[in-house]
Order: sequence, then structure tokens, then C-alpha cells
Amino acid sequence: MAKVADNQENLKKCICGGCPTYGQCMKDKMEGLFCAKGKSSCELEKNGCLCGACPVASENKLDRMYYCESGAAE
Ligand code: SF4
Ligand code: SF4
Repeated sequence: MAKVADNQENLKKCICGGCPTYGQCMKDKMEGLFCAKGKSSCELEKNGCLCGACPVASENKLDRMYYCESGAAE
């Protein structure tokens, strides 16, 4: 599986900002696009994941969730 490109275009498509798991800490640090950039530096409580509905996921054939917890796609 190809690595997800860490670029502005993908960052704009990332829907993490609307996710119930996306917390204030992530917001403050302007984190996102975890599938490319790697996991969050914030403590997180899993409340659901929107990655399955994200265009970056479908375009890159991602099949995992919670990239904010587990880090970048291989
Ligand atoms: S797959 Fe998840 S982490 Fe990756 S861009 Fe989409 S919403 Fe963000
Ligand atoms: S990786 Fe998934 S769980 Fe984490 S903030 Fe993005 S959509 Fe939510």
C-alpha cells in the first residue's frame, strides 16, 4: 500500500476535525491527516472514527481507523 502524501491537498480533505474523537488538544495543535503525518501527540479518548467516510481513505485504499492513535498508514 502506498504511503499517504503529507500535503495541503490531503490535509484539506481530512475530516478528522468533525470527528467525536478529535479533541481540544488536537485542535490547539492543529493536528490532522494522521494517516500521513503519524499519530497524535495528545491524549485521546476514542469516541468513534470518521476515517471510513474520508476521501483520503478511499483514494489511498486505507482500511484502518484511528490513525490518530496508531499512526501513519504503511
Ligand atoms: S483517513 Fe482519517 S486521518 Fe486520514 S485524512 Fe481521512 S480522516 Fe484524516
Ligand atoms: S483518525 Fe479517526 S478517530 Fe482520529 S480524529 Fe481522525 S477520524 Fe477521528
